[in-house]
Amino acid sequence: MILFLEPGIPPGKVERLKELAGSEGLGFRVLDEALAGRRLVLLAAEPSRPNPDLIARVRSWHGVERSISFADPHPMVSSAPETLVIVPRWAGLSAEKAAPPESREIRVGPGHFLWIAGPCSVENPEYLGETATRVARAGATMLRGGAYKPRTSPYSFQGLGREGLLLLAAVARDVGLALVSEVLDPRDVDFVSQHTDLLQIGARNMQNFALLKEAGASGHPVLLKRGPAASIEELLLAAEYLLDAGCPGLMLCERGVKSLDPLRPTLLDLGVIPALREHCPFPLIVDPSHGTGQRSRVIPMAKAAVAAGADGVMVEVHVRPEEARSDGSQALLPEDLERLAADLSVLAELEGRTLSPLVRDCPAEGEEALTLLPRSSARSSDGSRADRGTVRGDPSFRRSKST
Ligand code: PEP
Ligand code: MN
Repeated sequence: MILFLEPGIPPGKVERLKELAGSEGLGFRVLDEALAGRRLVLLAAEPSRPNPDLIARVRSWHGVERSISFADPHPMVSSAPETLVIVPRWAGLSAEKAAPPESREIRVGPGHFLWIAGPCSVENPEYLGETATRVARAGATMLRGGAYKPRTSPYSFQGLGREGLLLLAAVARDVGLALVSEVLDPRDVDFVSQHTDLLQIGARNMQNFALLKEAGASGHPVLLKRGPAASIEELLLAAEYLLDAGCPGLMLCERGVKSLDPLRPTLLDLGVIPALREHCPFPLIVDPSHGTGQRSRVIPMAKAAVAAGADGVMVEVHVRPEEARSDGSQALLPEDLERLAADLSVLAELEGRTLSPLVRDCPAEGEEALTLLPRSSARSSDGSRADRGTVRGDPSFRRSKST
């Protein structure tokens, strides 16, 4: 950091500044050159960890007129890897999936495009199973769904909690999708990590530092959503919390910021994608569902997200949006997913990306949605499908043929 000292600053003050720097282990050197009568001081900061408190103290020191800091406020963010690799929990659990390990990985970053879809919240096994089946059939890579819901009103549906998460895990495995789900409370991080492939930290928890630390230490990759009024710097520092706590990989998600327009209370800030690119290497995705709040606006903005350079999109979908317990008005219909798939693959290709492939065995056309059955009767005739992996204590599913 370079400090510009006021002309005529008493030598005693310079000495005290030197002591302060020394007490924090910083080098202190008064430069021989002056600039417009100002004496210049060079403060050598620690190379790896910035100390924002010290920088603020030195800057506000009486007699320091201006300062220029060269310290990177988020060094871990700046040097994180650009590709995030997610290995679904169920990959490798099944002999059926004899594909080479790399084809079971989801790669998010340069050259790849991630498509996440699913309901806003898990409501019951039927809707979740049907929706997930359509998501897999449309070619999405990951299933989303909330078991712990952050709702503005305490009287709104709060999600099914643990039961909902176990349902999600079982359905995701059964349709061959990786799973992302939100964790709201640091005490649930372990449980949500055990049953998902990616932990989601929602917009309203972007600066829940206790949650960031716990999630970062879980050893699980994290999808961090931008707060509705968060600056780029705040978002990057929230990401720094995760990485500093040990997070092995993360991606950020733009999901709209608050606007002054009552007809468009949430403004999807696609400009943040190229702006963030200047500061962080890891994947950036866009959520046009929460970012627009209206079904008719989701697909256009999903397409625009690809052009803005996003590494993926996350959309909400529901088989019966009118019955959804949250965010039905922004949920795409299953048939919209097919349209979106076609658009995304063409646009992603134009951007030099391919839709992240994942070897899976998703339900074919003509197959019914998943049916909830007790595990004992879920075994198919060859003993394979419903027997794939186990989530202790979870219900099991069988896919039934239409009759
Ligand atoms: C969600 O993705 O389920 C969600 C609640 O979104 P957000 O945190 O962006 O509001
Ligand atoms: Mn939602």
